[in-house]
Amino acid sequence: MRQLTQAGQKVFEARYAGKDENGHINETFAEAVLRLARAAASAEKENLKTWEEKFSHIIGELLFVPSTPIWANVGKKDRPWQPGACFVLAVEDTLESMYDTLKDMALVFKSGGGVGFNFSAIRPRGDLVGTTKGQASGVVELIRLYDASADMVKQGGVRRGAIMGILNVDHPEIIDFIQAKNDGGLTNFNLSVGVTDAFMEALEKDLPWQLVFNGTVRRELPARRLWRIIIESAHSCGDPGVIFLDRLQSGNPVPENRINATNPCGEQPLSPGESCLLGSINLDRMSTFEGGLNKEILEETVTAAVRFLDNLIDVADYPLPAIAAATRATRKIGLGFTGLADALIKAGLAYDSAGGRELAGTITGLIRQAAHAASEKLAEEKGCFPLWDKSVFYPDRPRRNAACITIAPTGSVTTMAGCEGYGVEPIFAVAYTKTTNVAGDLEVFSPLFLEYIKDYNIPAETLAVIAEKGSCQGIEGIPEEVAGIFKGAREIAPIDHLLMQAAVQKHVDNAVSKTINLPEDASAEDIGACYKTAYELGLKGVTVFREGSKKGTVTVGRERA
Ligand code: UDP
Repeated sequence: MRQLTQAGQKVFEARYAGKDENGHINETFAEAVLRLARAAASAEKENLKTWEEKFSHIIGELLFVPSTPIWANVGKKDRPWQPGACFVLAVEDTLESMYDTLKDMALVFKSGGGVGFNFSAIRPRGDLVGTTKGQASGVVELIRLYDASADMVKQGGVRRGAIMGILNVDHPEIIDFIQAKNDGGLTNFNLSVGVTDAFMEALEKDLPWQLVFNGTVRRELPARRLWRIIIESAHSCGDPGVIFLDRLQSGNPVPENRINATNPCGEQPLSPGESCLLGSINLDRMSTFEGGLNKEILEETVTAAVRFLDNLIDVADYPLPAIAAATRATRKIGLGFTGLADALIKAGLAYDSAGGRELAGTITGLIRQAAHAASEKLAEEKGCFPLWDKSVFYPDRPRRNAACITIAPTGSVTTMAGCEGYGVEPIFAVAYTKTTNVAGDLEVFSPLFLEYIKDYNIPAETLAVIAEKGSCQGIEGIPEEVAGIFKGAREIAPIDHLLMQAAVQKHVDNAVSKTINLPEDASAEDIGACYKTAYELGLKGVTVFREGSKKGTVTVGRERA
């Protein structure tokens, strides 16, 4: 069993450990590992003990880290075993549907999940309401209502409910939607415009674009003007991002259940009612400075992790019967990784180099290959997912799971696992100031950096400069090779962030959660260029973070909030 770091233990105790009725922790990390392993093994018909040991091994050794709702819920006596982090719900153009869905959302939040919606079915603000002859309040008002409710329901006491709101680019209320966060507020929402190939073509050819509802054209404007509004808004407040609707659908393993939305952070396209559970391979734990990545351990871990996640779908207690049915019809799992940055550093490769991207792609490809093989074997043993005969895999490729690979942000589990790089992200900074209760502000170096420079004899004064700047770029006495490998997220060019996302997305069934960092002086056109490049690179969606934009900022050299 691995010993958690101090920060890891804190996350574990605050979010995952079992607690008695007075809120006192009554579970150790080792006991929690066993709780998860046992719950997953209980889905097996035979060899329960063997599976329990296998699952305990990969989780206890931190080779595989299940995501937050699994730790917080599964196997506990006092909670429903809800393992999903990602949900998508449908909302229709009736008052009943709007409030039914609101309630469903609250239940999902309570159980620890985040929800995505596509609001395009809702009639625009000002339209007539048939029964009352009053005026419809529209999409943005509905979003405000959902946002206020999300404030009320904390996710099972673990975290706040995150929401993805999507509106299609041809909806008549699209401009208000795009600008909905410009004056602040809607803090529980990420907004994304659902962009179609037709819109991108109209933009490219500088054609007019029609806003349509129920087949009636409400307005026409140049595509380029709408695009301008999108990128100016993203420039000022970080929202909206864009998701490429035709790509979501073309990657849909069960095409007749249309996909037009993702979960809050964008990594999981789902059709309405579906949910997905996540788990991450810890690439840091299976990499060393001497030998790089251990592929054997990687494959073994992936095989066991697929079985673990798949089993949880059987023992899960979902918040609604409709969610249980939709989730079990496709049995999607979201296996991904964290600690990519750590693995690249250990391999001596810069995040923004061709070699770094190549290794990231190779690793993701290996995970996908091993996961698909595991899902195929499970199908032979336990049967294909129920909608398999309606899927793109039918009839040649038996599969237990309609999709297997997702790269999540891994915001909490990375800290628990003790990696430096979150999900697919580069390290945040090589040095930062950490505020502690006991010792005040401490200068902290990336442990990987300290390990890496051991043989370089870098003088203490140089290290002091690095600590002060929170960066090792352009500092006398730091070899170029070292500076290249230890760039923080802000020191990597936007195009290199995008190229990394694309290198990984190529091997991912679902999608990749990634932040594209931009400097404060980046223009709206720079953001537009990122969005267009994302489209050209084949990404499913993209979001940017510009330093100093209203989305909130992180001070240089400071620990990520
Ligand atoms: N999520 C959420 N609220 C949060 C953080 C995450 O609803 O505050 C959901 C959301 O769907 C997100 C997914 O959980 O995309 C995975 O997030 P992450 O990988 O950061 O979760 P972790 O397992 O590390 O807590």
